[in-house]
Amino acid sequence: MRIGLYPGTFDPITLGHTDIIQRAMALVDRLVIGVAINRDKGPLFSLEERVAMVEAECAEIVGRTGGEIVVHPFENLLIDCARDVGASVILRGLRAVADFEYEFQMVGMNRAMDASIETVFLMADARRQAIASKLVKEIARLGGDVSKFVTPTIRDALAERYGRKN
Ligand code: ADP
Repeated sequence: MRIGLYPGTFDPITLGHTDIIQRAMALVDRLVIGVAINRDKGPLFSLEERVAMVEAECAEIVGRTGGEIVVHPFENLLIDCARDVGASVILRGLRAVADFEYEFQMVGMNRAMDASIETVFLMADARRQAIASKLVKEIARLGGDVSKFVTPTIRDALAERYGRKN
């Protein structure tokens, strides 16, 4: 059984993330979504909220396409998290060239720590490549319409967090 780990902050989960999740599911038998605590990034949503949002979006995907998704919060090293969940592959999304430098370093360092775990990069559909949680939050904060970037549930959660009622 092939287990894959897709780690991220998911603050909040976007249509870019769900695009990658659906592609990743075609490559593994069980997809573990690692939701990082990431205190450094000062997330807008708490870990519990982010996990609940990822679970709800994934329940919808699994209901539609089948497959197995497990949502797993983690605070330790990514490579240790991969070992904990029995993953043989780490899945990451690549957007623009900007993502590459950081990801390149991460693969190198993770490989030095555990050469048996492979990292695989996936690209979202062209319409969803530019979506980033950071920009979605910025648009929502300024009262813009984020419905092209997130599901209605997440759009409403953002509106509520920024004090706007739909
Ligand atoms: P963000 O960088 O938007 O805050 P995360 O840290 O949660 O998001 O990202 C988790 C993973 O998902 C990373 O590998 C990131 O590159 C990938 N990802 C996020 N948005 C997209 C997208 N629109 N297309 C492809 N990959 C994406």
